[in-house]
Amino acid sequence: MPKLYLVPTPIGNLEDITLRALRILKEADLILAEDTRNTHNLLNHYGIEKKMIPHHAFNEHQTLKSIIEIIRNSNSVALVSDAGTPAISDPGYLLVRECLREGIELECLPGPVAFIPALVNSGIPSDRFRFEGFLPHKKGRQTRLKELSESECTLILYESPFRLVKTLEQLAEFFGPERYASVSRELTKIHEENARGNLAELIQHFSSKTVKGEIVIVVEGKR
Ligand code: SAM
Repeated sequence: MPKLYLVPTPIGNLEDITLRALRILKEADLILAEDTRNTHNLLNHYGIEKKMIPHHAFNEHQTLKSIIEIIRNSNSVALVSDAGTPAISDPGYLLVRECLREGIELECLPGPVAFIPALVNSGIPSDRFRFEGFLPHKKGRQTRLKELSESECTLILYESPFRLVKTLEQLAEFFGPERYASVSRELTKIHEENARGNLAELIQHFSSKTVKGEIVIVVEGKR
């Protein structure tokens, strides 16, 4: 029986991978990878040699049928993204849906995902949270921000370093500059930074330097 495994991979520190994830990657017939060069580095680190096929977000719709055929003709296929858990702001959801429609067995392993350490580090309530991934860049952005500003749940966003200050400024505009938040940068990497404070303080902190690296923003819900 063919089976698709969704395998989370490290978000920075290569030690953050489970023993089971390594075994599944070793045993799989092939690996579907968002970026085969990137996954090659991970496999190399663990001495795994495996056939890889690209599985990108930009052509996930077009390649779905052929990927399903490949899985059907295999025992075990592993899907990985560049970092963290597949299908979380990464390709994977369409493939999972198609596998379920086609009656193909699948299993998602638990493992790294960037927003969990960011949420837990933040000190902001973690009992109810809303993960929004990347905000829309243009269309619908203002409407989404307005809606989110009313939510009582903790809000989690993914953001690029180039847009961080602009996004913090917009959050301050819609949520108020006093709203408490936390910005986690480069989690699990050498230059990890977790900056906490109200939105006005965070804007000041990040405006004074060139922001680099990967970023998660966590914002306290409306009180
Ligand atoms: N699938 C991934 C996951 O499970 O978290 C998310 C992939 S998404 C394309 C990439 C975004 O995740 C980055 O732009 C950043 O917002 C966040 N991210 C990934 N790694 C991170 C890290 N080490 N530190 C902070 N944020 C990170």
